[in-house]
Amino acid sequence: MRATCVLAAFAWLPIFTQTSSMDRRLDASVVVVGAGPVGLTLALDLAWRGIDVTVLETRHAGEPPNVKCNQVSARSMEIFRRLGLADRIRATGLPPEYRNDVSCCVAATGAELSRIKLPSRAGRVRGETGDDGWWPTAEFPHRINQLFLEPLLFAHAAAQPRIRILNRTRFDAFTQDRDGVTALAEDLDTGERVTLTSRYLVGCDGGRSTVRHGVGAEFLGIPVVQHVQSTYFRAPDLIDRLPGEPAWMYLAFNPRRCGTMMAIDGRERWLIHNFLYHGETDYEAVDRDAAIRNILGVGDDFAYEVISKEDWIGRRLVADRFGKGRAFICGDAAHLWIPHAGYGMNAGIADAADLAWMLAAVLDGWADPRLLEAYSAERQPITDQVSRFAFNMSKEVSHQRREISVDIERAGDVGDAARARLGQEAYDLYVQQQCCGGLNFGYFYAGSPVIAYDGEPHPPYSMGRFASSSVPGCRAPHVWLGPGRSLYDAAGAGFALLRFDASAAVDAIIAAAARRRVPLAVVDIADEQAEALYARKLALVRPDQHVAWRGDAAPADPLGLIDLVRGA
Ligand SMILES: Cc1cc2nc3c(=O)[nH]c(=O)nc-3n(C[C@H](O)[C@H](O)[C@H](O)COP(=O)(O)OP(=O)(O)OC[C@H]3O[C@@H](n4cnc5c(N)ncnc54)[C@H](O)[C@@H]3O)c2cc1C
Repeated sequence: MRATCVLAAFAWLPIFTQTSSMDRRLDASVVVVGAGPVGLTLALDLAWRGIDVTVLETRHAGEPPNVKCNQVSARSMEIFRRLGLADRIRATGLPPEYRNDVSCCVAATGAELSRIKLPSRAGRVRGETGDDGWWPTAEFPHRINQLFLEPLLFAHAAAQPRIRILNRTRFDAFTQDRDGVTALAEDLDTGERVTLTSRYLVGCDGGRSTVRHGVGAEFLGIPVVQHVQSTYFRAPDLIDRLPGEPAWMYLAFNPRRCGTMMAIDGRERWLIHNFLYHGETDYEAVDRDAAIRNILGVGDDFAYEVISKEDWIGRRLVADRFGKGRAFICGDAAHLWIPHAGYGMNAGIADAADLAWMLAAVLDGWADPRLLEAYSAERQPITDQVSRFAFNMSKEVSHQRREISVDIERAGDVGDAARARLGQEAYDLYVQQQCCGGLNFGYFYAGSPVIAYDGEPHPPYSMGRFASSSVPGCRAPHVWLGPGRSLYDAAGAGFALLRFDASAAVDAIIAAAARRRVPLAVVDIADEQAEALYARKLALVRPDQHVAWRGDAAPADPLGLIDLVRGA
């Protein structure tokens, strides 16, 4: 198999700074509000594409968040691979040999019912596979808590010359006109007013987003799906009480209390989510300590120390629009749902990847500003769909928990049969979440104004299942071009024209791209399996690795194609 790359070039706009005695005035191409995982990924992607970015964040530099998201999805890892960060992220998190298994059990220290097998991070590097081993991906998922991920993203972003992060700075409001955006902020330590002018502004400012209000978007959906009591605690003795090889996650099913426990550092720090039963809405009325002991399966003699408590409401809310004019929203600012399948932060990272290339293309001058209308048209329906997957899963999970029989803790045949049955049912339900291939790779942009559809329907997908496809709008099916060499590595930062038959003429497409200054790499792939997978001799892949067009020969109007995909 061989791969050839031609041309990928971007210009960047310099940062211009002005100060006055009254307030500080700054200028940037893009202002990002919020240095959470989504804002930092967006800033990194933009900077990687040669765009200067200013990020506003109320927290101190590098200050870790609350203990929240526990996994970086495979698709997010593919995005981080493109940004040169995947290896660094994979080198952090649980101890290298700590398995990422999910144990379905009566209690964390009690009988195991079934186990979803996932390798440790060192195992992934060695090429070991687990229940997600069938995925055609450049990167497998990585279990790491947001506590450790965010400081790593922050340090990397802070080291980029094109990214300026203003910590302890609160964004307050913005106005926009035909030429740009003016944002007002305040330095929380000095009280100094900061005025920022930019071409675009993106709110990655979380669920309570100020920018969301500014773009006139409204959250639609279900405001309360479930109440959850979460406790982050230290218990150095717990790991020795866990039966068998320690798992990353424990799903406890017993008639007294069901809940989820996750290993945070693989040694002594743990997080328990106690998903309250229907009708339990008063956190204080639920005995936290008793719930923890039931989920762990330990008596009063077991000692643990609470590090923090966070009680939260699972929701299903998606904004009715993802932007207006020159301002956009990404991540929790645009959507919130109960984190079944661990796809809150990861959907936000996918938003950032979609918006970053579009903003960079417009700022670079080779795309029409109308390209940006595609962002809402692509991401709003997808995140609405994920929110429904997560909501439906929460209903199935609640149903399963309600049905737990007391037999589960009986000795003998009756107990064995009950445990075997629940073990299988729990495996079948949770493997969809913990190996959610559909959420990672199955989604497609069906109604985008910048994709050249060819009439073939997109393959259906579920949370767990998907089929790789080159139907325009789908993620470009992944293939390895050689040992450790991903198709995505060869595709580069701009558009990539994949050619599976060297005799297929591409000059007309190259000439059209050059005429419009669209960066285009031609990647020749001589591999029968890849050719069969793509089902066409040519495929045009966007900078975010989604298929924009495919065919057996160049289209009759190559300039028309290039104009379509650049939003003109
Ligand atoms: C208990 C729990 C478990 C979760 N588990 C998972 C999981 O397994 N997988 C998953 O994918 N997701 C999970 N999530 C969801 C995930 O944590 C969020 O989706 C993710 O943090 C969203 O990132 P974000 O950058 O959009 O927003 P945030 O992380 O909320 O970041 C927003 C940032 O903006 C800053 N900010 C806000 N307002 C302003 C302002 N006016 N000026 C300046 N700065 C501002 C904030 O300080 C913050 O740093 C979980 C969430 C919870 C609560």
